[in-house]
Amino acid sequence: MRILIAEDDLTSRTMLIAIVKKWGYEPVAVSDGEAAWEVLRKDDAPQLAIIDWNMPVLDGLDLCKRLRKIDTPDPPYIIFLTSRSEKDCIVEALESGANDYIIKPYDNEELWARVRVGQRMIEMQTATNNAKKALAHEATHDPLTGILNRRAILDSLQKEISRAMRQGTLLSIGLCDIDHFKLVNDRYGHQTGDEVLRGFVSTIQDSLREYDLIGRYGGEEFLIVAPGASGSEEVIYERLLTRVAGQGIATRSGTVSITVSIGVVELRGTTTLDELLTDADSALYRAKNEGRNRVSYA
Ligand code: GH3
Ligand code: MG
Ligand code: MG
Ligand code: MG
Repeated sequence: MRILIAEDDLTSRTMLIAIVKKWGYEPVAVSDGEAAWEVLRKDDAPQLAIIDWNMPVLDGLDLCKRLRKIDTPDPPYIIFLTSRSEKDCIVEALESGANDYIIKPYDNEELWARVRVGQRMIEMQTATNNAKKALAHEATHDPLTGILNRRAILDSLQKEISRAMRQGTLLSIGLCDIDHFKLVNDRYGHQTGDEVLRGFVSTIQDSLREYDLIGRYGGEEFLIVAPGASGSEEVIYERLLTRVAGQGIATRSGTVSITVSIGVVELRGTTTLDELLTDADSALYRAKNEGRNRVSYA
């Protein structure tokens, strides 16, 4: 773990560097508050900082206040190490967001124990952040294919509709349903069916542009949200159709051939999300009735 040391006095700084190294940490040393700020505001900043109060350019207290204004899930753990021993100073530093306060001259073992407390807090913070990220991912992604789940793709669609209306840009959606997918399961088994779904998603992702979105709408139904110019949707959806029908999907049971039907609808005027989906569904229904393996436009 890296520890930032902000200390203007050369002797104190040199001692701190040596002792922190001895404890197995990697010191990053600076001699004023502004330099400390430059280090700590970076993305890969040390997570623990031992800072002096009286320093040139920017003092420890103002540094601390500045750091605490940053809205971040992993703020640095700040230990004041200063000769200012007045109660008022201790209170002010802690109130300004310091995690700990040690008065010089300090005892090495006590400083070590307090650094270890900081390390434990940082580890807890990291674990909590990771758990939060994992939960957020789980709540918005389909576990089988890894793409957005139904709720998340509909949220994204709602945002894209608002954006398209605000900016007067175009937007289309494509509701894709694999043809006779039940037969794939019946013939090859459910596990191979799952592999086909994953392979199908890869094919879609390869066919889409960077800013197109894809989500799992239902079992073997997928929703594409494609912002962009009129006419471009023909290219996107027809290309997808051709690729799916043309290349087959490699599975443990060999290559499985599938086709897909797609119902496409373009955002016009003040269409709502529900209207769009209903129209896409009708277009899909028509594609199925007209023989499948085709794109039908609402
Ligand atoms: P159509 O061309 O009319 O769409 O026919 P279909 O057989 O694809 O449609 P249907 O809605 O009758 O069947 C969909 C099938 O998709 C039935 C269901 O078991 C299967 N399915 C849904 N989710 C999954 C999944 O996660 N894994 C697997 N292997 N199969 C799934
Ligand atoms: Mg000083
Ligand atoms: Mg279906
Ligand atoms: Mg189907």
